[in-house]
Amino acid sequence: MTELRALVGDITQLATDAIVNASNESLLGGGGVDGAIHRAAGPELLAFCRTLHGCATGAAKVSPGFRLAAKHVIHTVGPVWTGGHNGEPELLASCYRRSLELAADLGLRSIAFPCISTGVYRFPADAAAIIAVRTVRQFVTTATSLREVVFCCFSEQALGYYQRELAPLGDDTRSERSE
Ligand code: ADP
Repeated sequence: MTELRALVGDITQLATDAIVNASNESLLGGGGVDGAIHRAAGPELLAFCRTLHGCATGAAKVSPGFRLAAKHVIHTVGPVWTGGHNGEPELLASCYRRSLELAADLGLRSIAFPCISTGVYRFPADAAAIIAVRTVRQFVTTATSLREVVFCCFSEQALGYYQRELAPLGDDTRSERSE
């Protein structure tokens, strides 16, 4: 069994086996959560990322965590929201799936995700939370090393979107029951 849970916090402080970075295709640092992770991990992270030669949108690459409590950083590149008709939902799902695949390949037991694409890349946070939870749920239906998946929100509002989707009695269940 894999536990899925959401919290509000600074992802750089989490001691999961891996934290996921919402990076950009260069992997050479940026603002938002990317900047925070690079500051907390130290300059060794940028030096390592130079050896990765970038990352396509929807893909993921791994680095050590350096000065972070997390042992690994999984760098993924979310889509820029341009209205939703340019493959953004599929690309966002791919970020979650590919990150989980890397974590499982490494035999990791825990991983924390930020709300990928919902900052500068403007993906609507409510829709992004639904994609995040459903993609992770789908992935963990197959047995892997992963025991815990954390959704690290940066606001109470984002947390609310995750709690709604993670609730044991979601809207689907309730409507089934009332029939
Ligand atoms: P993107 O370019 O993928 O949109 P951003 O870094 O701009 O990436 O934002 C992604 C999400 O990360 C946003 O919801 C933002 O509020 C959140 N965020 C920013 N800093 C942190 C942090 N230290 N820990 C967790 N989440 C963070």
